[in-house]
Amino acid sequence: FHLIADLIREHARARPEQPAIVQDGGESLSYAALDALMDRIAAALQRDDVRPGDAVAVSGMSTPMQGALFLGALRAGAVVAPLAASVTPASFDGMLADAQARLLFVDESAAALAPADVRTIRIDTAELEAWLAPPGAQPEPVSPAPGDAFNIIYSSGTTGTPKGIVQPHGMRWTHVARGARYGYNADSRALLATPLYSNTTLVVFFPVLAFGGTVYLMPRFEAGAYLALAQAKRITHTMLVPVQYQRIMARPDFDAHDLGSYLAKFCTSAPFSAKLKADVLSRWPGALVEFYGMTEGGGTCILDARANPNKLHTVGQPADGHDIRLIDDEGRELTEPGQTGEVVGHSAGMMSGYHGQPAKTREAEWFAPDGKRFIRTGDVGRFDADGFLILSDRKKDMIISGGFNIYPSDLEALLREHPAVADVAVVGVPSDIWGETPVAYVVRRSGHEETTDSALRLWLNERVGKTQRLSELRSIDELPRSAIGKVLKRELRDRHAAESP
Ligand code: ATP
Ligand code: MG
Repeated sequence: FHLIADLIREHARARPEQPAIVQDGGESLSYAALDALMDRIAAALQRDDVRPGDAVAVSGMSTPMQGALFLGALRAGAVVAPLAASVTPASFDGMLADAQARLLFVDESAAALAPADVRTIRIDTAELEAWLAPPGAQPEPVSPAPGDAFNIIYSSGTTGTPKGIVQPHGMRWTHVARGARYGYNADSRALLATPLYSNTTLVVFFPVLAFGGTVYLMPRFEAGAYLALAQAKRITHTMLVPVQYQRIMARPDFDAHDLGSYLAKFCTSAPFSAKLKADVLSRWPGALVEFYGMTEGGGTCILDARANPNKLHTVGQPADGHDIRLIDDEGRELTEPGQTGEVVGHSAGMMSGYHGQPAKTREAEWFAPDGKRFIRTGDVGRFDADGFLILSDRKKDMIISGGFNIYPSDLEALLREHPAVADVAVVGVPSDIWGETPVAYVVRRSGHEETTDSALRLWLNERVGKTQRLSELRSIDELPRSAIGKVLKRELRDRHAAESP
């Protein structure tokens, strides 16, 4: 166990001019510059009486300065709470209050969200320079233990209000420890196009810097710009969410790019279809590694897709030292092969709890008969005969119709095979007869306008059991998604309720 902030100091001494964090078309910080800035940030926080364990919040676009703040705060032993700026003021206030942040750092994109009662510093104006400790300032060294808080990260809010997850230093360290396996070293060049406030991004950001590599940040993802940058910078690693893979692979000029520098591409956060994984494997050089897990860090499954081409419909096997089990609705462990149940996970680095919410923490915990503590994922799945996890759906999205369980993902996978379907989400809506019934929202592929919604619905209904039939299929221009690309099914259910008489 090492402190990431200390490793950055070592890299700054060994290769001062090596680029650490670079923004597409913007500022760039070498290791020497990053290290010096971290000292000034840490010393300023200590001057302002921010003590080890105190939280500071950061919000705005993913820029090198934002990254430097994360790292500088760590050097002072402070706990960074990165907050999404793409939320309503009420939910921003909620997160800020929940984190009990002493200071808030924002750029222009988040400035309007800053409440009057928390001291706020703009990081994209002269205000930052005035706040920083003078160049050359040395902060008091701190020495956090593996169990001490590193970050408070808010869950995506896919199923409800985001929850503040206290992630210990040990959790971050497990990501670094895994890094050698993916070929991280001081020559790694990682391209990150998801926001820095998301755990999805941070699982690559910190390890690449811990190894002395370079992180390229794209504050706004666009598939064409991603490909151009990937080729120009000879990128070796990336993390993308499934919808980003979809947009990149759909570009007519994809094959014209030289992507031979890639060693590994990662994916996490939402269902990644087997078809799309196969497409990425066949046309994009390098390994493709999918992670299944949650910000809470209960347990992670890893699928090395290139090494397991016949397991693309799974999310892989539990990571080393991670214990993943299945439980039924009564909280009993399922031990027979092939049984389906809620996924629960245990790992050494899992969250200590939701910040200031003991009741929510207890709801999320499951204890094995021997007392071992697990975190409930709210995801439903089963293990195949080789121990690979096959996810069915989120428990909250599962539809119970006339007493039968319907997994929206089964219907979505079938609909995706139809040439007229570009994207699809199936949700359960209330029904007087069945209790709940499935409705599909479909994004159409252009050039297939002659297929009507009802023809598409009938096409699907001929292919599923009687109890799984769709009662409605509606076309939609775009599916509602979170900033990290997750389909917001609760918004589709609300939309359906609003549109129904
Ligand atoms: P909230 O808990 O606030 O509703 P969230 O669960 O979406 O939001 P995260 O911690 O970001 O917040 O996401 C974890 C969830 O993302 C998992 O429980 C799972 O449903 C989904 N997920 C993560 N990785 C994968 C994957 N590889 N395949 C399918 N789903 C995944
Ligand atoms: Mg969750």
